[in-house]
Amino acid sequence: MSNKIPLAGVIGSPIAHSRSPDLHGFWLKRYGIKGHYVHLDVAQSDLVEVLRTMPKMGFVGANVTIPHKESVLALADSVTDRAALIGAANTLIFRADGKIHADNTDGYGFVENLRANADWDPKAGPAAIFGAGGAARAVIASLVDVGVTEIRLSNRTRLRSNALKAEFGSKVTVFEWVHAGSMLEGAMTVVNTTSLGMVGKPEFKVPLDALSPKAVVTDLVYTPLRTAFLENAAKNGCQTVDGLGMLLHQAAPGFERWFGVRPEVDDETRQVLLSE
Ligand code: NAP
Repeated sequence: MSNKIPLAGVIGSPIAHSRSPDLHGFWLKRYGIKGHYVHLDVAQSDLVEVLRTMPKMGFVGANVTIPHKESVLALADSVTDRAALIGAANTLIFRADGKIHADNTDGYGFVENLRANADWDPKAGPAAIFGAGGAARAVIASLVDVGVTEIRLSNRTRLRSNALKAEFGSKVTVFEWVHAGSMLEGAMTVVNTTSLGMVGKPEFKVPLDALSPKAVVTDLVYTPLRTAFLENAAKNGCQTVDGLGMLLHQAAPGFERWFGVRPEVDDETRQVLLSE
């Protein structure tokens, strides 16, 4: 076994805003692991060379974010089924034989967040998904994986929701954006995957008249933590789950693969990302 200090990091550009180093740094300290996790600002033109060099420098893996999540798939030697299905990777593992393994843990993080923070039965009824961007793709893949049989989808740009339907098949029904509220009739899992409601963006406004109080409602937006959408759903009597847990849970599998300990996602971990 190598006696190098294991290194990991988050590759993106720009990347200075990422809180991943705070999170992984907290876990490294908590579990007494001699390792480091750093910001890695990498331009597209340097990505191939950087990935080739990192393992030689002691890196055991990396997270990947905008703008490299899609392009790393083509550079990896092996890709998990879920990463291939989503068409993007967020976690890389540099194996001892020099090969790069790519995974996507966003859908896992999404599902774990609901399991940990709500009394959630994915098979209780249809899911209603607002938005059809990269995050929606991971959410839909994970919902199909845990056995949701009907997925209703609405996006401002119809072409993008149609594309997801073409990929995920007959379980997905596309609704017009102007009628998005009608997806809520009987829906038991309700998800905002748009960036609406985020600090600096317009509010996410959808009529909640059809929303059942039995539905579990979640928002991928986590700045602010409690979006108006979640607050309104809570007023309706629904269980609501904020998006921060997804961010925390998606990080855990990578940490385990790189540093050998499955980190616990608990309230103390949440506080790390809530503090400035
Ligand atoms: P993306 O690929 O850029 O997609 C953005 C989505 O928001 C699209 O569906 C887009 O619709 C919609 N949208 C943006 N502005 C809109 C507007 N004015 N009116 C209606 N729809 C609008 O982004 P993404 O990667 O999917 O991320 C989406 C959100 O999820 C972001 O806020 C991101 O921070 C959050 N997220 C959170 C986590 C987590 O761990 N909690 C993980 C991933 C992402 P069009 O297709 O019509 O443009």
